Amino acid sequence: MLRETGLNKAKFPSIKTIDGFNFALQPTVDEAKIRALANLDFLRSAENVLFLGPSGIGKTHLSIALGYEAVKAGYKVRFLTTQELTSQLYASLADATFQRELGRLGKYLSLDKTASSHFFQVINQAYERQSVIITSNRPFQEWSGVLHDAVIVTAILERVLHHAHIFNMKGDRYRLREYMQAEEKKVMPLS
Ligand code: ADP
Ligand code: MG
Repeated sequence: MLRETGLNKAKFPSIKTIDGFNFALQPTVDEAKIRALANLDFLRSAENVLFLGPSGIGKTHLSIALGYEAVKAGYKVRFLTTQELTSQLYASLADATFQRELGRLGKYLSLDKTASSHFFQVINQAYERQSVIITSNRPFQEWSGVLHDAVIVTAILERVLHHAHIFNMKGDRYRLREYMQAEEKKVMPLS
């Protein structure tokens, strides 16, 4: 029951598991490293995890899978899209102590309206206290182009990368999809 509440609050767009990830199809990810992260030591030491690489190659899948492990272990988890993350509301909600700090943050956030500063707020609140798992299809060098503020991006990256497990993933989403469809056919029961 408790776990279900945590799962609902996490708001995963869908449930993905580590066992449901085909590592053979994604050789640029070290399965042993993912399995080691699944023991959740990274949460206890407030380390971050970054999955970088092109679209459709399993970044979100692995993020959710790690988040799901955390929920099962009783951690508070929240899945956010970039749009949600950079909205004022979630910039304050992302802090576990938001009830206490909402007033102060609310004031600060209303002074600073740019999405990139909201992103920074979330990262800064979490820094060395909570873990963040980030997926991006852009290399770090391009983040300033996305967030439109090079200074804030530098500040974000300094904090995110200070204690981080980085997965630089490669792959071809179309080839991957073909493989997966073929795999599905193999396990489909005969009728
Ligand atoms: P990304 O976040 O990199 O754009 P996703 O994680 O959303 O990609 O993956 C797209 C879809 O393909 C998802 O349904 C995901 O579960 C599935 N998928 C991708 N790679 C794998 C894999 N190696 N094994 C199993 N499913 C995969
Ligand atoms: Mg994704």
